[in-house]
Amino acid sequence: MLSTNQDAYFMPFTANRQFRKTPRMLVGAEGMYYTDDAGNQVLDGCAGLWCVNAGHRPRRVVEALHKVVDTVDFVPNFQIGYPLAFEAASRVAALAPGDLNHVFFCNSGSEAGDTALKIALAYHRLRGEGSRTRLIGRERGYHGVGFGGMSVGGIGSNRKIYGPLLPGVDHLPHTHDLSRNAFSRGQPEFGAEYADALERIVALHDPSTIAAVIVEPMSGSTGVLVPPVGYLQRLREICTKYGILLIFDEVITGFGRLGGSCFAAESLGVIPDIITCAKGLTNGTVPMGAAILRDHVFEAFMQGPENGIDIPHGYTYSGHPLAVAACLATLDTYREENLFERAAEIAPYFEEAVHSLNGLPHVVDIRNIGLVAGVELEPRAGAPGTRAYDVFHRAFHEGLLLRYTGDIIALSPPLIITKSQIDETFEKLGKLIREVA
Ligand code: PLP
Repeated sequence: MLSTNQDAYFMPFTANRQFRKTPRMLVGAEGMYYTDDAGNQVLDGCAGLWCVNAGHRPRRVVEALHKVVDTVDFVPNFQIGYPLAFEAASRVAALAPGDLNHVFFCNSGSEAGDTALKIALAYHRLRGEGSRTRLIGRERGYHGVGFGGMSVGGIGSNRKIYGPLLPGVDHLPHTHDLSRNAFSRGQPEFGAEYADALERIVALHDPSTIAAVIVEPMSGSTGVLVPPVGYLQRLREICTKYGILLIFDEVITGFGRLGGSCFAAESLGVIPDIITCAKGLTNGTVPMGAAILRDHVFEAFMQGPENGIDIPHGYTYSGHPLAVAACLATLDTYREENLFERAAEIAPYFEEAVHSLNGLPHVVDIRNIGLVAGVELEPRAGAPGTRAYDVFHRAFHEGLLLRYTGDIIALSPPLIITKSQIDETFEKLGKLIREVA
């Protein structure tokens, strides 16, 4: 039960008053399970909040965190260095494809998004193209809650109470097309041409005004929107043609979520100019984000006087020792337990299991890629979102943690999930979908 002053904590992205009436509390975690405040086990179907990719409290990460707090608490990263931050940067760069070789550390996915957008603006300015100030996002995109990320983000309800946000922003259409792609497995077949909207946006504003395009390779927060075959390739071609930087927000897709490779850029075969990441970077244990830059982007910042500040940007906690320790131990865990490969191996089983829900009442679409899936329910007349909320809430009390957004249930379990835990997840979810009218 909740403690005395129930109004003190203003919970993020939560229906606060509803929550206080029917709270859901987690107090412990191990492997694939949380423990709730009544001591029940809750199977984690969404890696916490898309971040606990190696499962809860991996031994190496726990030990590394104990060790670092006994050694050092804080090191400023402005004009001073913490050696392991350099190691963490090179380890992250080594996991990124192509010449994405340079890493700027921050503390969250939102900060990574704003960092990438600022870098894109400064990149053009430093190269003598200061007129390139427009940022292009996509409908149903989510890039966190900073002013930059919110501005390029495409979720109306996240934007509308905050006024006009950044000027000059435009949005691509989203690619969600149930009329052609319902019940797709992996990348949907139709919709590469949605990328051509970028040609129209370029023609409208002129390429000389456009700095960057930012998209999630797969949109997670708005309900698992998998990119159609060829779509990201086409975006890449158009960006290259007009000198526009392409940014992939891999806050969810990074660190093996799509299976096989660390980043979606590699698994989907498209190299952006900047990748942003967070979440799985430290397995969710310590807040940390990063923007990973290609050589040409980084080099644009290295042309000024050697004793001048290269980028007037950074956070007190950039390269924080605790985050760096968590990051290094997390990357060790991914490698030693072959978790990216494991995700690819078990993904076909996961795919079969989620598609077994096809035909249940109110299920209008099921989609998946790697170890992520979305189950879209038909909204109740006049009460959108309530059907998926009911499934989510009841699932929690029956020992299964899900995510929901609108009327879409999202699943993104830790990459250590077993076949029997996949069975358990979808048996429970199927039962609840049948029960919730
Ligand atoms: N970008 C994407 C794609 C995300 O999914 C999220 C969070 O879910 C963010 C950015 C923001 O990350 P954070 O909540 O760490 O600021």
